[in-house]
Amino acid sequence: MKLRLLLLSIFFTQQLCAQLYKKIHSKAIVVDTHNDFLMLVTDEATVKYRNNELAFDKDLKGKTHTDLARQKQGGLDVQVFSVFCTGDIKNPFLFANQQIDSLDAVIARHPNEMVKALNSAALLKAVKQHKLVAMLGVEGGHMIENELSKLDALYQRGARYMTLTWNNSTNWATSAYDETFKKDLTYKGLTDFGKQVVNRMNQLGMIVDISHVGEKTFWDVINTTVKPVIASHSSVYNLCNHQRNLKDEQIKAIAKNGGVIQINFNPPFIDSSFAKKENHFFQQHKTETDSLVKAGMDGWVMENYLYSKYKDEADAMRPPLSLLMQHFDYIINLVGVDYVGLGSDFDGINLTPQQLDDVTTYPLITKALVQKGYSKKDIHKILGGNFLRVLQANEAK
Ligand SMILES: [Zn+2]
Repeated sequence: MKLRLLLLSIFFTQQLCAQLYKKIHSKAIVVDTHNDFLMLVTDEATVKYRNNELAFDKDLKGKTHTDLARQKQGGLDVQVFSVFCTGDIKNPFLFANQQIDSLDAVIARHPNEMVKALNSAALLKAVKQHKLVAMLGVEGGHMIENELSKLDALYQRGARYMTLTWNNSTNWATSAYDETFKKDLTYKGLTDFGKQVVNRMNQLGMIVDISHVGEKTFWDVINTTVKPVIASHSSVYNLCNHQRNLKDEQIKAIAKNGGVIQINFNPPFIDSSFAKKENHFFQQHKTETDSLVKAGMDGWVMENYLYSKYKDEADAMRPPLSLLMQHFDYIINLVGVDYVGLGSDFDGINLTPQQLDDVTTYPLITKALVQKGYSKKDIHKILGGNFLRVLQANEAK
């Protein structure tokens, strides 16, 4: 009898939790600050690999993490699309504009379902109308080609954040990758022009994004900016020692600055044992990898190809959702609940944590937060409220 009562009580608690998380998720403004879908439709190597078959408003299940219908299914309200190219592209500014064109074209086809928001007021209005809010963030300061006028032009087209670097440094800011691995750097951090870029972004109301920058650049930004910054897609260094992650002192500085850290779902950034597993995978497939490299296949595309081909092995490498959730807990324990959010990096990463297969799975994050005992108010902050606060602080004159 006692056992039956216990089982019944577990059953009802689970039912209650199931109702609660769905309700909280649908009432919250859910924001993801980093998605690389636009890159998939413009990057030459990716387009060739995928036969140019990707349109955001088609059913792309099984092909990408993202499409319009699945974002709605996942209860996502705001997607900041990343405008991105590597440092090798010859005309990055032109490339950025092509990506923005591709988003504008989708929105023009679906004015009742999607809207491009240029500020927080437009964002809130569109959320009320149950439209998917699309925003833009530039990934990689090289896309402004060392000209403030091009920064202004990207702002005019809707870009509301810019990572000062990608993995490649610019002439005016050094990246986490270069600060960690390049021995012959002639400078580190922000140059005078780099500080001008930060100042101009502050004036425009374009959020300075410190994801991808090196530590020296990070501290130069913190000492230069007069507005809150974001990390649009970064995780916690103390849980996973990757140069792209943030150390405790950086997390504390972002909190002091009033900014927010949007947690990246990328397995190498959340699971400290992932690098070893990845190494093993590519050793297992060394002959095939070598021949694909020889045939000129792009590294990122090749990774995607091999993970799809050897799906069972790749699936076994995916970290559990609970490990991702530890990054949220860590930041909250260190500085409080006001400084963390979601920056999935969907379609910019080839593997995701278990269960988080695509953009339909955001409710599982809410469920995990409910199970951890966070309040509705706190969960609303994490899902989008914190980012909204930083956006509004950047808009203020
Ligand atoms: Zn990135």
